[in-house]
Amino acid sequence: MLVELISVEMASSRGPERVNITVMEDEKSEQYLKGRGAQFNTKNRFLKNERVKEHIEAIDDWEESNPATQYFEDTAKGLVNKVDSPDVGMMYSMNPYQGCEHGCIYCYARNSFEYWGYSAGLDFEQKIMVKKNAPELLRKFLMNPKWECVPIGLSGNTDCYQPAERKFRITRQLLEVCNEFNQPVGIITKNAAILQDKELLVKMARKNLVSVLVSVTSFEESLRRVMEPRTTTGQQRIRVIRELTNEGVRAGVMLGPMIPGLNEHEMQRIMKSASEAGATFSAYTFIRLNGAIKLLFHDWLYKNFPDRADKVWHLIESSHGGKVNDSEWGRRMRGEGNIAELVSQQFKKYNMRFGLNAERWELDCTQFRRPGSQIRLF
Ligand code: SF4
Repeated sequence: MLVELISVEMASSRGPERVNITVMEDEKSEQYLKGRGAQFNTKNRFLKNERVKEHIEAIDDWEESNPATQYFEDTAKGLVNKVDSPDVGMMYSMNPYQGCEHGCIYCYARNSFEYWGYSAGLDFEQKIMVKKNAPELLRKFLMNPKWECVPIGLSGNTDCYQPAERKFRITRQLLEVCNEFNQPVGIITKNAAILQDKELLVKMARKNLVSVLVSVTSFEESLRRVMEPRTTTGQQRIRVIRELTNEGVRAGVMLGPMIPGLNEHEMQRIMKSASEAGATFSAYTFIRLNGAIKLLFHDWLYKNFPDRADKVWHLIESSHGGKVNDSEWGRRMRGEGNIAELVSQQFKKYNMRFGLNAERWELDCTQFRRPGSQIRLF
């Protein structure tokens, strides 16, 4: 039998007091939470109150429950964010969902989920905030005469084609607004659900309003299933590239992140397959484990790959000056040292070999127009 003890700080006549509230757990689950990346909730650095779990007989190991994903409506006040990081590649981004059910264990967006009062661990994959008013917010944003059109990134933080999109279709509605205004967008995704919107993307591509970056990290299903549990398979992502480029939608491949000892040896195969499917550009990032991701990834690595966990961990450390995290712009995405340098050189080599170094084209901002106004003249 499990209990959850929630430790809460409450006001009393003697000042703040810490009170334990006991919650019975009646859900049965497996020891390893299949279909989830994180296996526990990390502490939220912004919260005073902490949720802890203790076994009723005070035994250290207990079973964690794995409830179904929950969706919460978030009436956001704003949607389009200015991106301050100079190494991200888009000046503005919008995210219809917060949290991501894909559950990639290395995901850097986990840390930002703490701002919403949740944990970067299981919460991030199980509690998805849905911005149902996102299309209205985008429309309002684009109608503002102060908006000088530049491309906006869809999925700057979380994946806009995660499973929630099949249910809520917020991304679809955002694309419809962009198409109406001739607002260019850059999309990045790990899910074949993007093909639901192929027809609309083709229309936008004819006006040079869209580019798609498909993130592919591995073709080894035994790795993907635990590392990115609710994403589409690697081969399905290649199919996405093929189907989009066959219809004239420009698409590239993102290798993010490359993890030494786990997937970096797949770089050549992934880039070759993407190129054969029609991708014309590529990008990559090198693993870094900032904030709560360090704990989550460490736990995940040793549970899933005990035979090589030490080696992988040390390779990551040696690529970030003895740590596993790095916040320095520019360097943080690439790492440093021998292994990171080798990955960088291989990326350049295969980029050339497979013709993935096409010059970046400019999405067309000149056609932007507000409904009811005249087309911009240049
Ligand atoms: S798909 Fe992207 S946003 Fe979603 S968990 Fe994976 S890395 Fe994070």
